[in-house]
Amino acid sequence: MSDTASLSAADEAEFRERCRAFLQQHATGISRESRGEDRGAGMMAAAKKFQGALAEAGLAGMVYDKEYGGAGLTRAHERIWREEYANFPDMTSELTISHGMCLPVLNQFGTHEQKKAFLADNIAARTVWCQMFSEPGAGSDVASLQTKAELDGDEWVLNGQKVWTTLAHLSDYGVVIARTNPDAPKHAGISMFIMKMDAPGVEIRPIHQIDGGKHFNEIFLTDMRIPKDWLLGELNNGWNQATAMLMYERVAIGTGSTSGVTHTSADGLIAEAKRRGVIGDPTIRQALMHLYSEETTKSLVAMRTRAELKAGKAPGPGGSLGKLHGAKISRLMRSILGDLFGPDLIANQKGDKAEQWGRTLLTSFSSNIAGGTDEIQKNIIGDRVLGLPREPMVDKDVPFRELRVGTQKG
Ligand SMILES: Cc1cc2nc3c(=O)[nH]c(=O)nc-3n(C[C@H](O)[C@H](O)[C@H](O)COP(=O)(O)OP(=O)(O)OC[C@H]3O[C@@H](n4cnc5c(N)ncnc54)[C@H](O)[C@@H]3O)c2cc1C
Repeated sequence: MSDTASLSAADEAEFRERCRAFLQQHATGISRESRGEDRGAGMMAAAKKFQGALAEAGLAGMVYDKEYGGAGLTRAHERIWREEYANFPDMTSELTISHGMCLPVLNQFGTHEQKKAFLADNIAARTVWCQMFSEPGAGSDVASLQTKAELDGDEWVLNGQKVWTTLAHLSDYGVVIARTNPDAPKHAGISMFIMKMDAPGVEIRPIHQIDGGKHFNEIFLTDMRIPKDWLLGELNNGWNQATAMLMYERVAIGTGSTSGVTHTSADGLIAEAKRRGVIGDPTIRQALMHLYSEETTKSLVAMRTRAELKAGKAPGPGGSLGKLHGAKISRLMRSILGDLFGPDLIANQKGDKAEQWGRTLLTSFSSNIAGGTDEIQKNIIGDRVLGLPREPMVDKDVPFRELRVGTQKG
């Protein structure tokens, strides 16, 4: 990663203009309306096109080394980019996992050879990556995972099942965690790997969502083979690396891809309240003001998190604050939508405003679960930010194979 140096006023103005010119030309074609059932394929195609152009312009992977396909610029450049990007439609939301989580983990834990092989394509979105942590019996307690990886000559052989894997069906590679030592306690016998999503032995089954979309999946791994040197990081250190990835995830979800103060949901709902002629209603005004203030506060907290990253700090448990705040905002948004639309939210015509907002409402429930549930964020904040006593852990020193988790009898 590049340094944290600041820029002269002239350099800053020049770079800002360069970002703005790029965005004016390329940040088009995505709107709230285009985030419908097609979420996935259509938006991924737009994201790839945008990101490809960004790479060609020398602006993709802003703070990553040029040697690995990054722009080799500083956190100060990245901040300017985010500020300008906040004024345009978010073209790259489908790359949140690929870029917000997989890329920093590959960069942090990958060997020089792995980075040479994978980073440039990831940065330019020539390849898309997904995250394969959760299993049917291991979500909040992901260390209980049962997918196993065994070494057979020069290859790892993986068997097991993953679930809720966002955009796996549109991804080329995955970062997967699997058990490599069942005799060690559950947190100690896990390793992280790179895998190819179209390898023999990988079956991807889409999950149909309540909002009409199909953007996450179940994945079955049956004798799936990967090269020995696709172990990512150290053997049996997968838990620490997974924790690092989850922190990147919470920062990515909690701060988004833009910077500056934004209040997108409030803006949309204020416009909607005006359209429906209820903007003068004091109860609705009060609720809209509340939403506006929460979104503004969230932006400010996100700016602080970004400033910490710019100062060279690794993302810590504070990322959970942004993530939890986002979930709270979603809850508030749902309540206002109910007041504005009433039964129209479910009894509507395809393509009308109520249908679009109804879909937004249904999708928003995921924010309380994806990337770790609200309860888990509260546990992390209590224990690691506020210093409250930790949750008791009775299985900490017990060998994994003796535990009754998932389908394992113990
Ligand atoms: C939209 C979406 C996208 C996702 N994408 C991915 C992805 O790309 N890759 C991936 O690996 N996973 C993904 N997930 C999975 C997600 O990480 C898990 O759903 C989440 O961690 C919760 O796990 P679970 O569903 O097994 O629920 P459980 O862990 O079974 O939790 C059930 C309930 O118990 C509560 N609970 C559990 N433990 C505690 C505790 N210790 N204290 C208090 N309450 C507790 C939870 O808060 C929850 O309310 C995604 C999920 C969603 C909704």
